[in-house]
Amino acid sequence: MTKSRRMRWAGHVARMGEKRNAYRILVRKLEGKRPLGRPRRRWVDNVKMDLREIGWDGMVWIDVAQDRDQWRALVNTEYTGIQRSCQETSACEEKAAVVRHNDLPWNVRKFMHNQILSFNFTADLEKVHPWAKSNWSHTDLPRLRRGMVGAQFWSAYVPCDAQYLDAVQLTLEQIDLIKRLADLNPEHLTLVTSVKGVQETHRAGRIASLIGVEGGHSLGNSLAVLRTFYSLGARYMTVTHTCNTAWADCSLTQLQSESSSPTAQPTDRSSEGGLTEFGKLVVREMNRLGMMVDLSHASVHTMKDALAASKAPVMFSHSSAFALCNSSRNVPDDVLKSLALNGGIVMVNFYTYFITCNSTATINDVIAHINHIRDVAGVNHVGIGAGYDGINFTPQGLEDVSKYPQLLAALLEDPSWREEDLKKLAGLNLLRVFRAVEEVRSGSLFTLLND
Ligand SMILES: [Zn+2]
Repeated sequence: MTKSRRMRWAGHVARMGEKRNAYRILVRKLEGKRPLGRPRRRWVDNVKMDLREIGWDGMVWIDVAQDRDQWRALVNTEYTGIQRSCQETSACEEKAAVVRHNDLPWNVRKFMHNQILSFNFTADLEKVHPWAKSNWSHTDLPRLRRGMVGAQFWSAYVPCDAQYLDAVQLTLEQIDLIKRLADLNPEHLTLVTSVKGVQETHRAGRIASLIGVEGGHSLGNSLAVLRTFYSLGARYMTVTHTCNTAWADCSLTQLQSESSSPTAQPTDRSSEGGLTEFGKLVVREMNRLGMMVDLSHASVHTMKDALAASKAPVMFSHSSAFALCNSSRNVPDDVLKSLALNGGIVMVNFYTYFITCNSTATINDVIAHINHIRDVAGVNHVGIGAGYDGINFTPQGLEDVSKYPQLLAALLEDPSWREEDLKKLAGLNLLRVFRAVEEVRSGSLFTLLND
């Protein structure tokens, strides 16, 4: 967007003077459409001043909720003559980052063999081979910026095939890749390991990058490896991926046992298994370290065992509601209710097969899952997980990481969503869980383990 066009748009927003209209215009801008109307020159100068004050220059806004407050501050300034900056209205401090689950690192391995210098993250990958043709590619820097992503959990995922082989090594290589991606793009990405880090990075206008290890098979059954992942910066671990570990059952087992499938894998244990005693120890060690326990991909028994074992709130980094689509990857209502007591969060996955149980879905189908989780668990326990770059069928209207604002815009049309609640959905809920996990780490007396 050129400077003059940006100013024309800003002037128009200020002239409208009404937050919802201002927001609609924001969406027009995000969609790359021309703003309507032409502001008077006097307006443009005033708006220019205020925009600088609220940090427009060089700052990418974190989410739509924050935008609206900033715009409200701007509009108030215009209408009352009172100078209110972003700081004065505490708009900067209060707002949450958009924190999601993203599998881009695996695609860099798949497509580029981790040759990070050949990977141009700042390019429009929709035009770059082999990304352009892949259904699995939804992320690059320009789209993250358009999507107002303030923070991103990058998944250090390795396939289940590597279990009992080189899973630990491959996971270390993926962690290295995530770190190098941030090192090579210091103007845009900063690797962080705490809530404080997320907030500071956002304030500086960069995207906070966090590491999540996706799958307990990455541990090689070793708590020492878990502790090493933590010290390298990993702040959540998904207890399973699509394979059982020696200590936790995955959702696939449940499916196989329900359908009495004869294709059960050799590593499968009883579907009654959930977490073994060692599995419960893994959860408690994660609590002690200050690492979020992620239950996406886990079987229902594992979910329940982990909820019982964990002293801190847990997360589902990319799962949806079982009541609306009975995939074993989704969370059933009784678990949603326990999750509310635990203080945790379900971050909705956009994969169409988890939304409609089909190859097609719309933004409204995703909203139905968000609303269902809100209605059953409460508005403090729902977030947005997406799963981009790890899914190959996306809903209409949510095709890539640039589309998050459209989702929030659609929710805004629903009067049952208050602004405060949208901020929680956009990121505050996850930051609350993350903070609680940090507090359990520093506040509890855990027994040190010998192994
Ligand atoms: Zn996953």
